[in-house]
Amino acid sequence: TSPLRIAIVGHGNLGRGVEAALLKTADAELVGIYTRRDPAAVTPVTPGARVRPLDALESDADGIDVAICCGGSRSDLPEQTPAIARFLPVVDSFDTHARIPEHFERVDAAARAGGNVALISAGWDPGLFSINRLYGEALLPDGDTYTFWGRGLSQGHSDAIRRVPGVAAGVQYTHPVPAAVDAVRSGARPTLTTREKHTRECFVVLEPGADGAAVREAIVTMPDYFADYDTTVTFVDADELARNHAGMPHGGFVIRAAETSAGTRQVVEYSLRLESNPELTAAVLVASARAVARLQARGETGAVTLLDVPPALLSPRSAADLRRDLL
Ligand code: NDP
Repeated sequence: TSPLRIAIVGHGNLGRGVEAALLKTADAELVGIYTRRDPAAVTPVTPGARVRPLDALESDADGIDVAICCGGSRSDLPEQTPAIARFLPVVDSFDTHARIPEHFERVDAAARAGGNVALISAGWDPGLFSINRLYGEALLPDGDTYTFWGRGLSQGHSDAIRRVPGVAAGVQYTHPVPAAVDAVRSGARPTLTTREKHTRECFVVLEPGADGAAVREAIVTMPDYFADYDTTVTFVDADELARNHAGMPHGGFVIRAAETSAGTRQVVEYSLRLESNPELTAAVLVASARAVARLQARGETGAVTLLDVPPALLSPRSAADLRRDLL
């Protein structure tokens, strides 16, 4: 069978991650990177890759099996995923949890109108973690599900620090609190507050002449982002930030702690330790594109999430191979 022909829409961290994932995927190939910017301004990772204006995607659609949308959740994906679902099968990583139902409805209507399958909110959270939360709940009804994130760089919180007056640059890491993780792993099913579960650690470069104490206060008291957490702020110079804080590590765990009969504790854990958040997210998007192509070939249409996809459809191997080797 011929390789799956993939288009990347939007070339940021995730777009570059999809390129990296495709270089390790035998049954899929990159046919083009589509961008809103001048294509000459975009440098692909893949030798010889074609970069095209986003406007050309629809006229190129005959040569594409699945488009992988790599735009931002805030304003790109709500617009791009439904627009593209009208003429191509599509995958995205929409991660604004509270708005997923609304995004699903809009993409579903567009995908049905276009006769396409659209898989939204793939990645690790939402995505792999969602699947594991589902397994935990479905198998162990008398239990509690805990999700911990970190140690990881949070893009949204890093952006929030950079908007504080007096801040030239900065990054934010989220850490799980070890005592909370230990309590959950013991099966004790503790009730944990936001502050008890995670801490936040900021590395900040001040603008010349800025008042460090005022910057620290503005950060640690910031509502929604930091006020509910124990937050530390460390001032560093630009060289140290570039040297030690340029990566995008992340990870975390989903734990279901339950009882299956009186006094019988069961603890099920799924864990990720990622040196690159976008590269792992991109790897999930590429496997999801394979599933989308198969659902499309079965004649299905409309929006789905990873919760709706049979796991075997993510694999390049046949169902018979999977039964022989993985069961
Ligand atoms: P980026 O900000 O790196 O890229 C977003 C878009 O911005 C790109 O598609 C690109 O579009 C544009 N862009 C990128 N670089 C530049 C530049 N130098 N100048 C101008 N425009 C640029 O976002 P990420 O790739 O890091 O993340 C994308 C989304 O992935 C996030 O919003 C998040 O929601 C989601 N995500 C989901 C996860 C999950 O587990 N489900 C995990 C991690 C991320 P264009 O080429 O058209 O200009």
